[in-house]
Amino acid sequence: MRLADKIILITGSGSGIGKATALLFASEGATVIVNDLSEDNGKGTVQEIEAAGGKARFIRADVTNPQDVDAMVQEIIGAYGRIDVLFNNAGISGVGALHELEVEQWDRIMSVNIKGVFLPSKYVVKHMMEAKSGSIINMSSCIAEIGLGRRASYAATKGAVLALTKSMQVDYAPYGIRVNALLPGTILTPFVEDYLRKSYADPEAGYASLKTRQLSGDLGRPEDVAKAALFLASDDSKFMMGSPLYIDGGVVFGKNA
Ligand code: NAP
Repeated sequence: MRLADKIILITGSGSGIGKATALLFASEGATVIVNDLSEDNGKGTVQEIEAAGGKARFIRADVTNPQDVDAMVQEIIGAYGRIDVLFNNAGISGVGALHELEVEQWDRIMSVNIKGVFLPSKYVVKHMMEAKSGSIINMSSCIAEIGLGRRASYAATKGAVLALTKSMQVDYAPYGIRVNALLPGTILTPFVEDYLRKSYADPEAGYASLKTRQLSGDLGRPEDVAKAALFLASDDSKFMMGSPLYIDGGVVFGKNA
């Protein structure tokens, strides 16, 4: 029970990596606040946690909306008195070279992927500062480190999240708060299935080609990232501060020559 009695907020945990992490964290003793845009998906995660004997609560909030996020954090503090871990996981994909992108698409991805980290952190961190402890996990991506075709807007957001993580860590270290980033490679989730549909005439062929990019020979699974998030959430990582943690099947540091 590595997260016994911890109160943990995971944004975008109705699906994919966030959902896998919510299930794992609850099985490790945490009370998980499941946030998502979709009520059906968020409540689905809560039902699975409760069916397995864990504790969870759903709060619908749009992470780009300050009123939503403020109300969500107030609800959690009112119910539990603290937030021990914040996992800023919610995010959307963006496909296309710059000249192909509509301005609205650019603005939307900047808003969800960057402002969607800023706002929950802004409202949660003051409670962690009072408690003089906490762990914040920001979802970046290995795309912050490598160039990938037709992913410019998405890459810009994930690079920003990595930079934000390092500066946040400096500001909040004096309060006993750790801030680290996860940098997954390609993980098979609804998000990547959507990318395959939008990017390849034949999504099966696209999947096969994505697999060759990994030294592992296959894509990662949401549970692979959830286990890394568990490490950052728990005291096992107490000496990790402002660090990127790669879970990428060798994409960044290896090469399939
Ligand atoms: P996913 O299955 O699409 O999950 C993302 C979740 O975020 C969805 O449940 C979505 O809700 C939610 N969300 C989107 N916009 C939101 C908003 N404004 N407010 C609240 N929730 C919102 O995708 P995933 O693959 O698990 O991705 C999770 C995170 O990992 C993202 O930040 C992504 O960039 C990052 N990541 C993924 C990969 C990968 O290969 N899959 C690799 C590196 C990093 P709705 O479905 O209701 O819109």
